[in-house]
Amino acid sequence: MHISATFDSGNIEVVDASDPTNVQLKIRRDAGEDHMQWFHFRMGGARGEPVTMRIVNAHESSYPKAWNNYQAVASYDREYWFRVPTTYEDGALVIQHEPDLDMVWYAYFAPYSHERHLDLIALCQVADGVNVDVVGQSLDGNDIEMLTVGDGPLQLWLIARQHPGESMAEWWMEGFLARLLDTDDALAMQLRRLATFRIVPNMNPDGSQRGHLRNNAAGANLNREWHEPTAERSPEVLAVRNCMDQTGCDFCLDVHGDEELPYNFVSGAEGIEGWTKVQAALQEAFLYAYVAANPDFQTKFGYGVDEPGTANMTMCTNQIASRFDCLAMTLEMPFKDTADTPNPQQGWSPERAVSLGASALHPIAAVIGNLRS
Ligand code: ZN
Repeated sequence: MHISATFDSGNIEVVDASDPTNVQLKIRRDAGEDHMQWFHFRMGGARGEPVTMRIVNAHESSYPKAWNNYQAVASYDREYWFRVPTTYEDGALVIQHEPDLDMVWYAYFAPYSHERHLDLIALCQVADGVNVDVVGQSLDGNDIEMLTVGDGPLQLWLIARQHPGESMAEWWMEGFLARLLDTDDALAMQLRRLATFRIVPNMNPDGSQRGHLRNNAAGANLNREWHEPTAERSPEVLAVRNCMDQTGCDFCLDVHGDEELPYNFVSGAEGIEGWTKVQAALQEAFLYAYVAANPDFQTKFGYGVDEPGTANMTMCTNQIASRFDCLAMTLEMPFKDTADTPNPQQGWSPERAVSLGASALHPIAAVIGNLRS
């Protein structure tokens, strides 16, 4: 049996693979040492053999509670990802699988590779009316690309994958962009006349390639850097925030995944100083329209709301809502599945994240006329 993780977003250390019924593995920590949960590896040579893999340091992960009711994903072709029996026992994540084929890939969630990211940028730039700008570079030397779509007066910002292990965020972006760029879609064309979309599909390419859960190459959690980003620690945020300061911002959606909750939900900026009734009304309209557009989205379960004046201003949503007095929100998708609309074979999946991204044009359309009134 062979286990390897020397590829894009790979993350695993083999402790002992001599016994297929007790393969012992460990997740590597992110740079910065304060986070780990993402894993992604390939196993070969166990066709037709029942294998039990134990990730023995799962209890040391960033969100150990998240392993309850969690099922790992697997794929033979790296396109279709399905769930495999997984339990959390005595601090170890135990994955059981009898492979039908020679090679199997396992991961925390369906990966979104750097090659696929480059394909996404390339595919978008050949569509009508799209500009691609490199707004900055990461510490590993990756470009931070911003796509500009549409020519309306409003400035709508959408960013994803500040937390690189939340790969569903870039799947969401793929679905959102496909629909926004569809010139046969009347809603997309209307939005492109009303607004200029500024889209950053991957805020943290270094962490994505390195197989991190939350941090960049310097060990920074980018969604705690928005108050005072620096070139040394968080050039990705510095570049995008500077760009926002130049263009202005009338709407911001920051796309994430949540390890624990089996729901799609939005978290707002209610805790900022001077949160307005206008912001509250816009957010409510956005949420109702998103529920109507896609039943995988819901508003009943989510994070608690911050007390007024207690918002963490290092987070994108709070910083941008305050800085530009606009509607800014964080969208969270599950690593597990949606409790109300489950899919036992795949759980939450790339396909469903793509669909939720495409549906987002509806809630944007519901608020766009009132973003600046
Ligand atoms: Zn996140």
